[in-house]
Amino acid sequence: MNLPIQTNDIQAVVEADRAHVWHHLIQHKPFETIDPRIMVEGRGMRVWDATGKEHLDAVSGGVWTVNVGYGRESIADAVRDQLVKMNYFANSAGSIPGALFARKLIEKMPGMSRVYYSNSGSEANEKAFKMIRQISHRHHGGRKYKILYRERDYHGTTLATLSAGGQPQRVEQYGPMAPGFVMVPHCLEYRSQYPDAESYGLAAANAIEEVMLREGPDTVGGLCLEPITAGGGVITPPPGYWERVQEICKKYDILLHIDEVVCGVGRTGAWFGYQHYGIKPDFVTMAKGVASGYAAISCTVTTEAVFEQFKDDPSDPMSYFRDISTFGGCAAGPAAALENMRIVEDENLIENTQAMGERMMGNLRVLQERHGVIGDVRGKGLFIGAELVSDRKTREPVDEKRVQAVVADCMAQGVIIGATNRSLPGFNNTLCFSPALIATADDIDRITDSVDQALGRVFG
Ligand code: PMP
Repeated sequence: MNLPIQTNDIQAVVEADRAHVWHHLIQHKPFETIDPRIMVEGRGMRVWDATGKEHLDAVSGGVWTVNVGYGRESIADAVRDQLVKMNYFANSAGSIPGALFARKLIEKMPGMSRVYYSNSGSEANEKAFKMIRQISHRHHGGRKYKILYRERDYHGTTLATLSAGGQPQRVEQYGPMAPGFVMVPHCLEYRSQYPDAESYGLAAANAIEEVMLREGPDTVGGLCLEPITAGGGVITPPPGYWERVQEICKKYDILLHIDEVVCGVGRTGAWFGYQHYGIKPDFVTMAKGVASGYAAISCTVTTEAVFEQFKDDPSDPMSYFRDISTFGGCAAGPAAALENMRIVEDENLIENTQAMGERMMGNLRVLQERHGVIGDVRGKGLFIGAELVSDRKTREPVDEKRVQAVVADCMAQGVIIGATNRSLPGFNNTLCFSPALIATADDIDRITDSVDQALGRVFG
């Protein structure tokens, strides 16, 4: 099905884009000879570009975002109704959707209590960093200021979140980084030297403790981790890892900050990724799937115990959280998020994600038998990676150009897949799949069929 493109002169749009838009994360030189891609319309799992070509989107808007799929009129209606009623007021006052969404969100997050609104994943993470820093200042004489982050994890694009960035190719060229951020090792079992997963899980968590001890636990305020690392290679934690991490945080009084910007709101087949592992976080940050890209909203969610520490002296103007996000007061965000959550619930999308995730994992394992280049398949729910290696024994990563060739081949077949993109030197070798949570069995099979064909053509 080709949707009609309604813009009268699409070539004028392409030229305006070529002349004036600075696209994210790509080199623009090729646009001197080829047209930039412009997405024009979306329905369900499918998008149409300016040439009229239909694509099956296996990456939810490119970056794990459009969880409930394209063209949701009920979200557009909820946003429109809210905008004409009350579009904005600074969030020092509340809003109806802000209050109702916070209540609904907290219902899904036992143990958590307070929602702080902002606009992007980076911002949500910075808010948590600032809360940890302020707790350090008010309650630990400023000593517990360090924030630990993990190799291969990503927490955002601002200078503080980049300072907590475990992907060197995103960080290089933007230094100097902010002080007080310290890296701990990753937990990718496929690239570990341990004889079994359990002993690796323990060792990878203990490596965090070693860094803490080296830094001095009384100088460390927080530990920020993705529950399953996304852009760093879709890394599911080894068994026992999270139990031990939790123990370490408790032992040294470290606040545990879980970055659910990708995993949040159903992506992994649970409301939140951390809920698979029995983690009790102090902070949970989320963005992308919260409103599936229908509005810009992010949340920094925390416990009542953390919140209480900002109310200890009402007469002291320095005792409350000295922060604002102007557009954290946009009521479109929580209005869209509330309807987005209703859809996830009423359409049983978490259950669908579990079932379709298993199907996709099964299909990819079949491909792994057929194509020696697939070294590892891992993930949870509709959040899956396939790591490509030139030799299964040595696990030597394939050249990034060939990974991109697989992505391009799928694109030519009308299926958009992703790959770890120029973030880890030598390790940009994982294909990424994150279709919308509405995916059907046919969609999943079409995605994996296109990968099958692409691998056959690129690797023979
Ligand atoms: N955390 C994670 C895990 C992410 O993947 C991203 C974005 N890819 C961010 C934070 C930053 O989110 P944003 O781009 O909305 O600032």
